[in-house]
Formats: sequence, C-alpha cells, structure tokens
Amino acid sequence: MRAPNQLVAAILAKLAAAVAPGVTTAELDALAEQWAREAGGVPAFKGYRGFPATLCVSVNDEVVHGIPSPARVLRAGDIVSIDMGVKLGGFYGDSALTVPVGDVPKETTALLEVTRQSLERAIAQVRVGGRLSDIGHAVQEWVEAHGYSVVREFVGHGIGEALHEEPQIPNYGKPGRGPTLAEGMVLAIEPMVAMGRPETKVLKDGWTAVTRDGSLAAHFEHTVAVTKDGPAVLTAPAA
Ligand code: MG
Ligand code: MG
Repeated sequence: MRAPNQLVAAILAKLAAAVAPGVTTAELDALAEQWAREAGGVPAFKGYRGFPATLCVSVNDEVVHGIPSPARVLRAGDIVSIDMGVKLGGFYGDSALTVPVGDVPKETTALLEVTRQSLERAIAQVRVGGRLSDIGHAVQEWVEAHGYSVVREFVGHGIGEALHEEPQIPNYGKPGRGPTLAEGMVLAIEPMVAMGRPETKVLKDGWTAVTRDGSLAAHFEHTVAVTKDGPAVLTAPAA
C-alpha cells in the first residue's frame, strides 16, 4: 500500500506549493488529476457516490468535501484543505492537509498547528495491541485543551482494497475501547477541527460540509499501517 499513498503524498506536497492568492480550486484539481494519471493512478474520489472531482478542496469554514470550482479564487488570508485519494496497483491511498494562502492571522496558524499536532498524537497511539478509541481520544484531548472543537459528523476509516473500510475512526471518545489494533491493519486517521462550535451542515450542493457557526475549520489526514515496530505513516512526504 505504500505506492498509492506515496503518490498521494507527493501530489499533495506539490499542490501545497501551488497554493497562492489568485489560484482557483479547479486549477488545483486539474493539476492533481493530471499528476495522478501520469503516474498510473486513478483518482479515487471522482465518481465516488457521484462526487465530481479528483480533490476535495475546502476553504475557510468549509470542513470537508468542498467541490473544486473555477469560480472559487483563493485569497490571501484564506486556509484551504486539500484532500486526495488515489487507486494504484489495486490499493487506495488517502491523505489531506490544510495550508494557509499567503499571510494569515496568528490565530489561524495556531488552528492549523494544533490540528496537525492532534494527528501526530493520534498516530502515536497506533501500535499492535492498542485500542481503536485511543486514537480519537488523543485527538480530542489535544484539540479541546487548546479551546477548539472536534467535528463529530465525519470520521476516519480503514483503507485498503476499498477507499473506506471498517472500522470507522471517530476523532473523540474515551480511551481503551473498540477493536484491538493488529499488525497489518491500515487506518486513514483524519482529525477535523473547528475554531468555534463543532456542529456542521451540508450545503445545497449535497457535498460541502461547513461549520454551522461559520468558524474556520482545519483537516489533516494520514494513512497509517499498524506494524510490530509501531505506526508506519504511508503518506509521510519523502525525505
Ligand atoms: Mg481523505
Ligand atoms: Mg479519508
């Protein structure tokens, strides 16, 4: 499963570098699809339950599942979550990151940092014999200690020969519960964090989830294998 996940990681790194004021979310999507197909990959989201694009691109108060559009122009001060899935060699890769567009307020930078750190802390819970809910607990503890909210309506997931497999991985909960982690399991862990209240709603396009209170939201995702040596982050950018 390294191949599809390394492809996603490489494309996300290039997309993050392409983010700038004046770029449209459709331009990012076109680049992502081109780079995936050039590498022999197939965009995993395009056509998934009718989703129309290669990327989910979610700006500011959009939490996840934003639809790329030529009308959506990124502006300095925005934050943009880019989520990508690819199928390659019969297996799926899935990862997401949130990046600032130009200069953003320090409060915004802090939201991105804390969300990224919550993912790192969640990944640190991935070990043979660990329990699934230890992952979400680690996210919730870190996020709420910084005064932010964990979005509850969307979850991480197992991943392999399908994009979304069991188990679901909430980003909150008490530790020591749920399935025991076993060698060879692969998990897409993806905290979604709101600066304000956690509640979300889906826009009329049927996809875009936004915070109900309009507060900023950040989203980071890695696909992680459970190994006897600990977590293997399959979507870690190449050194
Ligand atoms: Mg994803
Ligand atoms: Mg995912």
